[in-house]
Amino acid sequence: MTTATAPAKPVTKRNNGNNGKHVDFFRIVDQQFQIAADHMKLDPEIQLMLRFPYRELVVQIPVRMDDGRLEMFHGYRVHHNAVRGPYKGGLRFHHEVDLNEVRSLAALMTWKTAIVDVPFGGAKGGVTCDPRSLSRRELQSLSRGFMRKIDMALGVYRDIPAPDVGTNGQVMAWMMDEYGKKHGYTPAIVTGKPVNLGGSLGREEATGRGVMVITREACKSYGVELNGARVAVQGFGNVGSWASRLIAQEGAKIVAVSDVNGGISCEAGLDMTKLGEHVASTGTVMDFAGSTKITNDELLSLNVDVLIPAALGGAITKDNVGDIKAKLIVEAANSPVTPAADEALRSRDVIVVPDILANGGGVTVSYFEWVQNLQQFNWTHQRVNEELEAKMVTAFGSVHERSVTGKTSLRIASYVEALDKVAKATELRV
Ligand code: NAD
Repeated sequence: MTTATAPAKPVTKRNNGNNGKHVDFFRIVDQQFQIAADHMKLDPEIQLMLRFPYRELVVQIPVRMDDGRLEMFHGYRVHHNAVRGPYKGGLRFHHEVDLNEVRSLAALMTWKTAIVDVPFGGAKGGVTCDPRSLSRRELQSLSRGFMRKIDMALGVYRDIPAPDVGTNGQVMAWMMDEYGKKHGYTPAIVTGKPVNLGGSLGREEATGRGVMVITREACKSYGVELNGARVAVQGFGNVGSWASRLIAQEGAKIVAVSDVNGGISCEAGLDMTKLGEHVASTGTVMDFAGSTKITNDELLSLNVDVLIPAALGGAITKDNVGDIKAKLIVEAANSPVTPAADEALRSRDVIVVPDILANGGGVTVSYFEWVQNLQQFNWTHQRVNEELEAKMVTAFGSVHERSVTGKTSLRIASYVEALDKVAKATELRV
C-alpha cells in the first residue's frame, strides 16, 4: 500500500465523442476542486489535506481463463477521504480503467457523500478488463480474486464497495461470499447486492431515480416544463435505463437513447416498457422497432430540452460542445463534461447539474442498505423511495440556494457545499 503525494501520470484515453483524445480525469476533478476552494477562500492547509487521496492500493489478479491460459489483471482501490465516515465507492470493470481515473472517481465520492449528507467518505476501485468478453466462470474468478487482494483495505466500518460500470449485483454477491469465507457472514461489506442476499429494495434503480428527482427539481428551478419535455439519454445501462424510464413516467418524451453500439431516436418518444423488453432480449438498444438509427455524436447534438449523459466520462468536450443544443444537462455519469466544455456551456447559459449532485442517489440508497444490514431490519420499497426523494430534494435545494446567493454555477455551488462539510469535519478532528 502506498500513500499518494501527487497525481501519477494520466493514461486514460476515451472515445465518447472526443475522437479518442486523452482525458486526464483526476486533473478535471482537481481543477474543479481548486476553483471552488479559491471561491470559498478555503484554508490552504485544509486544501492540502483534502486534495489528494489518502491511500492507493494497486493489485495484480491472476485468473485461469477457460482456454487454460493464465491471465494477469490489474486492479485498484483508492481511499480518498474518510473524515466523515467509512470509505465508500463503486468498483468499475472496464478496459480503460486506470489509476488516474479511479483516483478521480474516489475524489468525486468524497464530495458526493457530503452533498447528499450520508456519513461516508470517498473511495473507488476498478479492474482493467472487458467484462463482456469474459465467461461467467472467468468473471466470478476475477471478482473473487480481486476481493481477496483488496480484503485488507475493506471493513464494514472501514471501506464498503458497491457496483459501478461493468459490475452488478451478481459481482457484489460473489465478493460478499468471498469476504465471508475469511471473516464470517458480513452482508454490510458491500452494497448493491441482490435483494435475496441482503440487498435493499430500490437500490438497483436508486441512481436513476435520484437523477429523475434532480432533473425534476432542476426543471422547476430553471423554467423547463418536464411534462412533455424532449429528453435524450446517452448510455442505457443501470443508470441511463432507470433514469429514462422514471423521467418518462413524469411525462417527458425520451426522444433518443444510446449504448456502446450506437443510438436510436423516435420523435414521438420511445416506449420505455417495450424498449426495456427489447434490451433484455437483445442486449442493446439498436434495431428497436419504430426507431431511427443515430450515432452517439448525433444524440449529443439533438435539439432537446434535457440531455442526460449516463455512460462514461469525457463525453462532452471542447470539440463537440458547440453542437450541444440542450437547455439543461444533467450529469448522470461521472465527469461527462470536461472543464473547457463546462465553461463554454456556462457562457451560453446552458444549465449543467454536476455529477456529484445528480448521481448521488446510488450512494444514498447504498447507505440505506448498509444501515439495514447492520440493523438486520429491512425497509419497505416505499420507505426507501421516500427517504431517497427527501435526501435528493434537500441536496438540490441547498446547492441551488448556494448558487443563487453566491451567483455561481451549480457545479461550483456543489463543490462549495461539499468542501464546507468535509473541511468542518477535518477541523474538528485535527
Ligand atoms: P453500466 O455498465 O450499467 O452502463 C453503462 C452504459 O454506457 C451501457 O449502456 C454501455 O453500453 C454504455 N456505454 C459505454 N460506452 C459508451 C460509449 N462510448 N458511448 C455511449 N454509451 C456507452 O454502468 P452504470 O452503472 O449505468 O454507470 C453509468 C455511469 O453512471 C458511470 O459514469 C458511473 O460511474 C455513473 N454512476 C453509476 C452509479 C451506479 O449506482 N451504478 C452511481 C453513480 C454514478
